[in-house]
Amino acid sequence: MADIIVIGAGVLGTSVAYRLALAGAKVTVVEATRVGGGTSGISFAWTNSSNKAPRAYHDLNVSGMKAHAALKEEFGATPWWHGSGRVEWRAPAGQDDQRAKLRRLREWGYAAEWIDARQLLELEPDIDPAAVGDAPIAWYPDDGWLDPVVYAHAMMTAARRLGARLRTQTKASGLVVEGGTVKGLRTEAGEVLGADVVVNCTGRWSNDTIGGTAPNLPLAPTVGFLVFTPPVPASIQRVVATPLCDFRPDGAGRLMVHWGPADAMVTPEITEQPGMAQAADIVDRLTRILPGIAPLKPEAARVTQRPIPKDGLSAIGPVPHLTGYYVMVTHSGATLAPALGAMAADEIVRGRERPELESFRPARFFA
Ligand SMILES: Cc1cc2nc3c(=O)[nH]c(=O)nc-3n(C[C@H](O)[C@H](O)[C@H](O)COP(=O)(O)OP(=O)(O)OC[C@H]3O[C@@H](n4cnc5c(N)ncnc54)[C@H](O)[C@@H]3O)c2cc1C
Repeated sequence: MADIIVIGAGVLGTSVAYRLALAGAKVTVVEATRVGGGTSGISFAWTNSSNKAPRAYHDLNVSGMKAHAALKEEFGATPWWHGSGRVEWRAPAGQDDQRAKLRRLREWGYAAEWIDARQLLELEPDIDPAAVGDAPIAWYPDDGWLDPVVYAHAMMTAARRLGARLRTQTKASGLVVEGGTVKGLRTEAGEVLGADVVVNCTGRWSNDTIGGTAPNLPLAPTVGFLVFTPPVPASIQRVVATPLCDFRPDGAGRLMVHWGPADAMVTPEITEQPGMAQAADIVDRLTRILPGIAPLKPEAARVTQRPIPKDGLSAIGPVPHLTGYYVMVTHSGATLAPALGAMAADEIVRGRERPELESFRPARFFA
């Protein structure tokens, strides 16, 4: 059976490592920091296919949602995944789009319905009805969110039980290539690790990782800004999307909050501090929806970057003219990871081309 190195232990790397190990491959995961130490550790991680187009990308995300739900059968319990749905209301200017989106999603067989204010308050009693006003309220019962680091650790633990090795604090610096075929991986410390296949799951670092030894994937990362509250007296159970901000539980009564326009108010170089004005503004927005949690200061603020291939879609598969190299870079990785991990392992170990991945081949960038 093949010797496979997976670089990167985020949600993608650990998912594929688990599936590869389950298929009998000899797997080594090489991770520069720790499991979940990259983008997966700072992600809103809403599992959904709410705004995904074209249809093939929507379907891929639905596969991810189903794969999260199916893990329950495999693992008995999946404490890392919370399939408790999502509620959404919009400002008047966005309501036509919201209606069109809900209609399209229903046509595509996605669970989406309208609820009234009474039903919203049954789901989330801490929301101030005045913050909703007479806005239409959409309910997506199959959406959820992931604790990505808990998930990645669970996948890595399952892979290790099947014999996979994990090397943390080991930074890859390039592939070892002979005659167009990958023979292994070079680490920053100068070590050479032999392998039949190298799977690059290093997200937004995926080009740095290979140091020019394979074609670079064109990426268009975007900056994300997340704010975290201390534990608050509110029983929020699900993802809540509003004109003021989006939020969800983040453990022990904490909430994770995102407001789209604030992404443009930070840069990756900024030193994030809970006292920064952008964080205070976001918490202020939150307290207008949940007045019972005021007064409140942010507990943490974090800036991170989304690993997005240039056309916005996933890049999953080999790159042309290089045997033994497989790339997995995508946004929406929190949603997609369990499905992509299984599909990629199927392709790598069994040599089966998965038709679901046809539109997402890295080769489209190298035509
Ligand atoms: C603000 C924000 C919000 C998001 N919201 C959502 C959402 O709501 N829903 C959703 O589905 N997705 C969301 N995403 C996207 C999702 O988080 C990512 O797609 C996913 O985490 C990517 O996982 P990954 O395993 O590919 O990458 P990562 O988690 O970044 O893992 C890559 C790993 O590679 C390691 N590494 C880097 N360089 C090297 C090297 N040279 N050698 C060895 N290891 C290396 C890193 O340390 C890291 O651990 C969001 C992302 C952000 C930033």
